[in-house]
Amino acid sequence: MVVTRFAPSPTGYLHIGGLRTALFSYLWARKNNGKFVLRIEDTDKKRNSQEATQAILKAFEWLGLEADGEITYQSQRDAIYAKYIQQLLDEGKAYKCYMTKEELDALREEQMANKERAKYDGRYRNFDGTPPEGVAPVIRIKAPLNGEIVVHDGIKGDVVFQAEDILDDFIIARSDGSPTYNFVVAIDDALMGINEVIRGDDHLSNTPKQIVVYKALGFDIPKFYHVPMIHNQQGKKLSKRDGATDVMAYKEMGYLPEALLNFLVRLGWSHGDQEIFSMEEMIALFDPKDINKSASIYNTEKLDWLNAHYIKNTSNDTLAEMLIEFGVVLTSHDKKEILLDALKERAKTLKELAELTQEIITTPSEYDAKALKKALKGNAKEVLKNFATKLQSATELHLPSDYHHIMEQVIEEMEIGFGKIGQPLRVALLGKLGGPSLDVVMAVIGKEETLLRVKNLLESDI
Ligand code: GLU
Repeated sequence: MVVTRFAPSPTGYLHIGGLRTALFSYLWARKNNGKFVLRIEDTDKKRNSQEATQAILKAFEWLGLEADGEITYQSQRDAIYAKYIQQLLDEGKAYKCYMTKEELDALREEQMANKERAKYDGRYRNFDGTPPEGVAPVIRIKAPLNGEIVVHDGIKGDVVFQAEDILDDFIIARSDGSPTYNFVVAIDDALMGINEVIRGDDHLSNTPKQIVVYKALGFDIPKFYHVPMIHNQQGKKLSKRDGATDVMAYKEMGYLPEALLNFLVRLGWSHGDQEIFSMEEMIALFDPKDINKSASIYNTEKLDWLNAHYIKNTSNDTLAEMLIEFGVVLTSHDKKEILLDALKERAKTLKELAELTQEIITTPSEYDAKALKKALKGNAKEVLKNFATKLQSATELHLPSDYHHIMEQVIEEMEIGFGKIGQPLRVALLGKLGGPSLDVVMAVIGKEETLLRVKNLLESDI
C-alpha cells in the first residue's frame, strides 16, 4: 500500500509551494487507494506556534484535502526518539561527543583557513577515555566517511553523493537531549510506514543524512520524489510578492479551492495539454513520475483564468453562500439567479464578483463627473422622466426583458437611439458608465429602487 505524507514545520503559514507537494502526495495516495498522513514537525519549540499549526489545518479543511488517521505531532514523540538514540549508542552506531563550542569554532576556523569544507573531524568517534568535566555531550551518528550514497529519485533519477564531500558524523541529539531534524524525519517516516516521500527538492541535500539514519536503524528506505521549485516569471525563487503567500490569503482574495488546486497540480506536472482537472481527474491521472525535471513558473493570469472558469461553473446557490464572506448577502432567490447569471461570466475572483454585486445593489451616493456630463447632454432628463412615468405605471415586472420592454417603448415614442436612454439611465442606476446590462440591474434591484435612483439623479442639482 502506498503511504505518503505531508510534514510541514509550523513556523509560519502554509504557502503554496508546501501545498503543492501536499497535493501531489494526497493525489498519489488516493490514486493508489493508499494513505495520506499528516505530520506536524513542531520540534523547534522556539520557532513553532500553535497558531501556525491551526492555520495549516484550516487551509487543509478549506481545500478539502483530508488526511488519513490521526495527525502526528513530533513534539509528542520525544520518548520514541530517545529510545532510538539509546539503541544506536548501545549498538556502537552513535557516540557521545564532548567537544566544546570553542573547540568546534577553532576547528571550523582552521578548516576555513585551509579552504576545506567545515566538518566534524571525528575526534570522539572511538573515544574511550575519561570524558572532560562539565561538558554536556551531543550524540553523533557514525556516518560513512567515504563511498557513495545514492538517492534513487523518482523525478531526478539516481542522484549520487560522495560521502566525503557532504557527510560527517552529524549530530542526532543536542546536548540537552533534543533530537535533530534529519534524525526524527527518518524515524517518523519509517515508523509511520511512509514508503513514498514527495517533497520539495530543497530537501534533496538532507536525504543522504536521512539515508544514513535509515540504514543505521535497519529501516526500509522509502521511494523519494524531489519536486523542483516554483519560480517567478523572472526565473527566480518565488517570493511573497509573486504570490508565495499564505494559502488562506488566496481564499481572502476570492479564489476557489478547486481553482487553486487545479492551478497547483499544473505547476510542474502535466497530462498532455489538458488544463482543467476536476479532483477526480487529478486522482485518476496524477503520477509523480510525470513531474517535470525543471522548475515550474508561477503565472497569475493562469490562476485567474482557472478561477474564472470555476466561478462560471459554480451554482448560484453556492456562489451566494461564498459571497457572504465578502460582505454580500443575496436573499431573494429570483434576484440571485438573475444577478449571478449575469455577473459570474465577468468575475475573475469572488472578491470581484462581490464588488460587481455591490455596485448594483448599492444606491449610488455620487456620480462619476465625466460620465454625468456625457450622459446628461440634450434632453436626457426628459427621457429619464418619461421612462420613470412608464415604469411607475407598469405592473408584472420580473425579468430583465420586462424592463427592457419599457426602455424600448421610450425609444420608440421619443424616436431616439438606445444610447440616449442607456447612458443617463446607467449613470442614474450605477453612478457611472460601464457595468452590466441595465435590464439585469433593474430586474435585480426592482421597480421601487429603480425609480428611486432615477429620481435621485433628476433631483440632484447637476
Ligand atoms: N518539515 C519540513 C519542511 O516543512 C519538510 C520535511 C520533509 O518533507 O521531509 O520543510
